[in-house]
Amino acid sequence: MKLPPFEYACPASLDEAVALLAVHKGEAKVLAGGQSLMPMMAFRIAQPALLVDLRKLSGLKEIKIGPDGVRLGALVRWRDILDDQRLATAHPLLREAVSHVAHYQIRNRGTVGGSLAHADPASEMPGIAQTCDAEISVMGVAGVRVIKAKDFLQGALTTALTADEIITEVHLPAWPAQRRWGFQEFARRRGDFAMAGVALHYDEAGGKAGNARIGVFGVGDRAHRLAKAEAALNGKIVDEALCVAVGEAASAEVDPQEDIHASAAYRRALTGTMAERALRAAAARAEA
Ligand SMILES: Cc1cc2nc3c(=O)[nH]c(=O)nc-3n(C[C@H](O)[C@H](O)[C@H](O)COP(=O)(O)OP(=O)(O)OC[C@H]3O[C@@H](n4cnc5c(N)ncnc54)[C@H](O)[C@@H]3O)c2cc1C
Repeated sequence: MKLPPFEYACPASLDEAVALLAVHKGEAKVLAGGQSLMPMMAFRIAQPALLVDLRKLSGLKEIKIGPDGVRLGALVRWRDILDDQRLATAHPLLREAVSHVAHYQIRNRGTVGGSLAHADPASEMPGIAQTCDAEISVMGVAGVRVIKAKDFLQGALTTALTADEIITEVHLPAWPAQRRWGFQEFARRRGDFAMAGVALHYDEAGGKAGNARIGVFGVGDRAHRLAKAEAALNGKIVDEALCVAVGEAASAEVDPQEDIHASAAYRRALTGTMAERALRAAAARAEA
């Protein structure tokens, strides 16, 4: 399908981009990788009068790794994350999750900021942002603000962004070297959006799991953490029985939607299986 007509701007600075959004008051949209926006426009789900292309804002393309964690510029593409060998130790969970995003053509163009702003409930990046307590920096005419992932994601395709705001950076807190982690998702074909996915990590002290984080995506209207499943994991020795118990806790805690891809009951069962497998993988990684 052909796109509806639109004006196009390619600002050279963030200030200019934000000003354009502010002047057009909800009639303009940012263009990053275009992998979600272009299909939305083709289907007339989005019909912005103006596209503000961020491609010249090279400051948003960096991956910074420091003692406080990983900072991903909004224009960092999936391919950049997979190609950055530093992330194999600085954030292995992020890298694993991104390897499941779409197909390589889409990974060559899709961006971190675009995924978070689009807020598809089945996307991997919002799942990682929730699981890992990410902070999202945004800039608008009123200045910069930092939003926690749990406050940023407000529902399917809905975020805390105002019409003049642009995501500039995503901060993932530092990743301890000994952290245990697992990532599992189920899609009909590799690269499809997940029908259910689980990202988890925990730190081990005295042989027991602590500081557990379990996040789900593809289940419900947004990616979110599972507090009860986390409680079932914290303070325990991770053995086979616990993997099953945490899977059951995860399954009981979600409130999945039904759609053309799966029933709610199927998604609930899938979530449990994904959590169980992710925890088993985390434990096996610890033994390796
Ligand atoms: C066939 C197909 C399969 C896919 N499968 C998956 C998958 O399995 N998992 C997955 O996670 N994704 C998948 N995607 C989506 C892909 O990862 C997108 O690239 C991503 O969701 C959006 O990123 P983008 O850079 O392309 O954003 P764009 O399409 O350019 O923009 C998307 C939205 O975000 C806004 N936006 C973009 N950047 C910013 C910013 N910095 N600040 C504020 N707003 C901004 C835009 O205005 C628009 O509303 C798939 C896409 C396709 C076409």
